[in-house]
Amino acid sequence: MAQVTEVVKLQRKVLAEVSRLALHDKLADHVEDILTTVVTEDGPRYRCCIHKERAVLKDRINVALSQPIGTDITEAAANALNGEVADGSIVRVLPEACDRCPIDKFMVTDACRNCLAHHCIASCPKKAIMVAGNRAYIDKMTCVECGMCKKSCPYGAIIEISRPCERACDLKAITAAADRRAAIDYDKCAQCGACKIACPFGAISDRTYIVQVIQAIKAKKRVYAIVAPAIVSQFGVKVKLGQVKTALIQFGFHALHEVAFGADIVTLEETKEFAATVPTDRAYMTTSCCPAYVEMVDKHLPQCGEYVSSTVSPMVATARMIKAEDKDAVVVFIGPCIAKKVEGQKNPDCIDYVLTFEELAAMFVGAGINLTEITDTLYETDASRHGHSFASAGGVMKSVIDTAGVLAPDITIKPHRAEGLGNCKQALQQIAKGDLDANFFEGMACVGGCVGGPGTLNDVRITTKMLETHVNATKTVMAPENQKAVDVIEKGGHWHKE
Ligand code: SF4
Ligand code: SF4
Repeated sequence: MAQVTEVVKLQRKVLAEVSRLALHDKLADHVEDILTTVVTEDGPRYRCCIHKERAVLKDRINVALSQPIGTDITEAAANALNGEVADGSIVRVLPEACDRCPIDKFMVTDACRNCLAHHCIASCPKKAIMVAGNRAYIDKMTCVECGMCKKSCPYGAIIEISRPCERACDLKAITAAADRRAAIDYDKCAQCGACKIACPFGAISDRTYIVQVIQAIKAKKRVYAIVAPAIVSQFGVKVKLGQVKTALIQFGFHALHEVAFGADIVTLEETKEFAATVPTDRAYMTTSCCPAYVEMVDKHLPQCGEYVSSTVSPMVATARMIKAEDKDAVVVFIGPCIAKKVEGQKNPDCIDYVLTFEELAAMFVGAGINLTEITDTLYETDASRHGHSFASAGGVMKSVIDTAGVLAPDITIKPHRAEGLGNCKQALQQIAKGDLDANFFEGMACVGGCVGGPGTLNDVRITTKMLETHVNATKTVMAPENQKAVDVIEKGGHWHKE
């Protein structure tokens, strides 16, 4: 979850305004109004001038409409209202918003006392440090960024700085372009959204499908909301899931389904897959429900691709079940994850759109829906404790281990898990090399699991606690006890990737 800073408030305000105008049939003619309602003449100024603020806002509006950056916003609104979605990657750098943070890694600060010892000069293997103007100075052309000077200074006067977006990216997919603006290498990017959360200028964003979803609802299509298990406590600890359900129906969604139910299907199928293939066909297997983790494996460790479970994600399992029952259904996944938008693009047979919790909250604001005041409705879960626990790190692993105890008690599972793409990459490399004794690996891109995703609204610690209470209060304990999930599997369906 992003800390609710001025930047986050601004981003959310744009999403809410786009929703409000779309809901009231005013987007086509009044999209330009957003420029003046969000950045007012006498409002706070974060950039050099109002013109710069509004130029940044245009980029934000294009991304909110899922149109290419640089499109005239009236044209972008018309395209979005027609249901059009631009090609290309989900996570984007907003060029106008990027502040071109410094690229020099080591800097001498005012704490330098120009001491007599000059440990910095003595420690530098490249003789890149000299004294100028009564303080040490680093010649950037000679510096090789080894950090010896920083370590040697007795006053801690040399600091190491890095660009927040670059520091956040475990996959080194975001770097400074020639003009020093951030640039994403999509051959490396797993679209996890970590850089979006890290950027203090709000210069990285993800494309949204808010308008496209609103248009589908207004066209009276049957739009199903399938909500990720991390929904618990997203709208505050006092808002009950029954109230979220009422709000979704009031907004115009046809029905609400829990992705936790699809997670039960996944637990059963993934356990069977593990029992059938490990160790006979492969030495180990990894989970497949985190799309950013799967992207990371595809792009950075393709040699490990065959070890990723072929079982579809809970999102896809739930969506396929709905499409099998209602071929005209429009399925919208609502969750904590930006990378799910990429997974949605790859599964157009069953996923129509993906929204984050943050986007849904903005849509409720745009519709004037106040969740704390809305009626609570009966909310009965179809899922087991296993299904709900997928939202938290370690949940998938435990579900499969418990289920194996019922379905395949003779197999040996040696589990290991990691959170954060860098940690996942390292652990998977170790397992592949045999340096880590594990045959079942759970990889989660976000720290804490999905409850720590970039599209969440509440602190990961609060959501984890609330999820635990929710899991413990769920009647059906294990996936194999969820007869409805067992029946759905038996009826037939595609629960594995082709
Ligand atoms: S953190 Fe990165 S994207 Fe954000 S302003 Fe700095 S360089 Fe630009
Ligand atoms: S991998 Fe994640 S952090 Fe790195 S550039 Fe892509 S979205 Fe940003």
